[in-house]
Amino acid sequence: MSILAKRSLIKEDKSNIITLGQIAKEMKKKDPEIVNATIGMLYDEDGKLLTFKSVDKALLSLNADEKYAYASTPGSKDYHEALKKWVFREKYDEFKDISSVMATPGGTGALSNTIANYLNDGDNVLVPNYMWGNYKQVAYENNVGFETYNLFNEDGRFDLKDVKEKMLKLKETQKRVLIIVNDPCQNPTGFIMNDSEWEGLIDIIQELSMDNTPIILLHDMAYIDYDYRGFEATRKNIYRYKDLNPSAISIMAFSGSKTMALYGIRIGAQICVSSNKDNLYDFDRANKFSSRSKWSNSTQLGMNLISKVVLNDEFRKSFEEELETSRNMLRDRAFAFIEESKKVGLKTLPFECGFFITIPCDNPTKAYEYLVNKKIHIIPMGNVLRVTISAISLRECKMLPKFIKEAIDNI
Ligand code: PLP
Repeated sequence: MSILAKRSLIKEDKSNIITLGQIAKEMKKKDPEIVNATIGMLYDEDGKLLTFKSVDKALLSLNADEKYAYASTPGSKDYHEALKKWVFREKYDEFKDISSVMATPGGTGALSNTIANYLNDGDNVLVPNYMWGNYKQVAYENNVGFETYNLFNEDGRFDLKDVKEKMLKLKETQKRVLIIVNDPCQNPTGFIMNDSEWEGLIDIIQELSMDNTPIILLHDMAYIDYDYRGFEATRKNIYRYKDLNPSAISIMAFSGSKTMALYGIRIGAQICVSSNKDNLYDFDRANKFSSRSKWSNSTQLGMNLISKVVLNDEFRKSFEEELETSRNMLRDRAFAFIEESKKVGLKTLPFECGFFITIPCDNPTKAYEYLVNKKIHIIPMGNVLRVTISAISLRECKMLPKFIKEAIDNI
């Protein structure tokens, strides 16, 4: 008999990404020929973890206090200013007083706090049917279930019709809706919503919140800075949050892991936008309480690194240049993979850019085993295979589609 509490009895991390990633890593140590397309981190063309020189320089400039001292729970003023500047860019002045920031350990902490504070026990969070699997665990940990919406309609575009139907259903049953949208460069598909899809989503939020029903858009923007279209395109939809109804808010989950490649430092934030001062006040007090009780405060090192890079013109300029180079590297890999997939007849889910490409597959576990025998490690999930193109070279991106097609045809 287990001595775990009742609600913990079923707890088991079902995500195979970390486990399979570790297996691939260990095997690659013994055999460098192994292709490890598992874990969502960015590697350079020589197979080394990609780091930014500007971030390294900023690290060297930090003193002991800036690295090791306790931080305040919500994070420093500088950190808040830096993130607002980074996200709102030229509209910083317009948004600085209608937004608020809460430091969190990575985007994961931001997702957890938001679900904890904007849904009641037993409610469902609305998530896409193709998703980062951890959403479900974060929900469970916060006494919440989940409902899914179709990410794609029959034309392979964002399924606004299904989103609206599911939101209406949840509005009816639980009198509030919290929807997670992971855009751009959706994990695991690499999908990007276009302008009219964003407009449509905001229209639905406005319509459903007209009668004062709380509608919360949790915008998981983990991969925002890897969209090949650049800053202007990726901030456009964020600027729409300014006009949301008083009972609708947008909370963005920012990930320092992805934007600055600070994966292990565990730094991120919730960034809330609302023209309603009460919403901002509530956001600050409830999320500060949650953070204090769960992790007390976030890393001083992570916050100061991000603040230094963004607020120092010289660091920021060189970081933006480096970011562009890494974006282009990722885009070249993606084009190569897609081009090769077309040549060999390998079908992928709608993809535009990002760390991953997803392939429909009826028996992903068998395909995984087949590919491991060919020294290729990718992730089997549900009814798809996920290939992490951020972790492999251009040469490997050109090589993989043929093997994956072969695996699917032979199992
Ligand atoms: N959201 C998505 C879609 C992710 O893929 C990840 C990490 O892989 C995260 C959020 C959270 O990342 P972190 O907590 O490292 O910022």
